[in-house]
Amino acid sequence: MFDYIIVGAGAAGCVLANRLSANPANRVLLLEAGGPDTRQDVRIPAAFTKLFKSEQDWNYTAAADPASGTPAQFWPRGKMLGGSSSMNAMMYVRGHRSDYDGWREHGNPGWGYDDVLPYFRRSEQYAGGASEFRGADGPLHVGGLRSPNPLTNGGREEGGQRGRARKKE
Ligand SMILES: Cc1cc2nc3c(=O)[nH]c(=O)nc-3n(C[C@H](O)[C@H](O)[C@H](O)COP(=O)(O)OP(=O)(O)OC[C@H]3O[C@@H](n4cnc5c(N)ncnc54)[C@H](O)[C@@H]3O)c2cc1C
Repeated sequence: MFDYIIVGAGAAGCVLANRLSANPANRVLLLEAGGPDTRQDVRIPAAFTKLFKSEQDWNYTAAADPASGTPAQFWPRGKMLGGSSSMNAMMYVRGHRSDYDGWREHGNPGWGYDDVLPYFRRSEQYAGGASEFRGADGPLHVGGLRSPNPLTNGGREEGGQRGRARKKE
């Protein structure tokens, strides 16, 4: 007998199972349709495309959308422990403040940027340490590029010369 049954050990399912099972009184069953996440390409961010159309991919095709003229498209989704987070490009991108504030303004109290920021901070273990926007004690390791492409730095310098201040965040 279980108190909770979670279907899918992807990004959301694993976090949920981890949180729920932190309480030893909870009996939690986590079901996953795919296999293990041990393939080497899972560990290498730039190798994520090698997982496409493999055993670790649901290999969906999104239907064509005649209204916008968009043809049918290959739509990869991870089928393994970690789900799509085991085949993603490992880029950490939060929504913009205006995205969340827009949700709140459209009648969703609790979804504004200031409401969700504490949860982002709580989930993060940011390599640069805690700040007003960053967390340092969470389970999700986040950091800047370790070896940025020189072109990236060139673009930043160019932006600076054009008066675009570089932000820390
Ligand atoms: C190619 C690719 C690149 C991406 N790059 C980035 C990135 O760089 N940065 C970023 O932030 N996000 C990225 N994403 C998006 C991100 O990975 C997803 O938003 C996130 O993983 C979604 O989490 P989820 O828990 O909703 O679903 P998933 O992580 O996909 O988990 C769903 C899980 O459920 C399982 N499942 C499905 N049906 C069943 C069933 N019937 N029974 C049992 N298990 C089932 C699946 O196998 C899977 O493991 C990328 C996604 C893809 C596909």
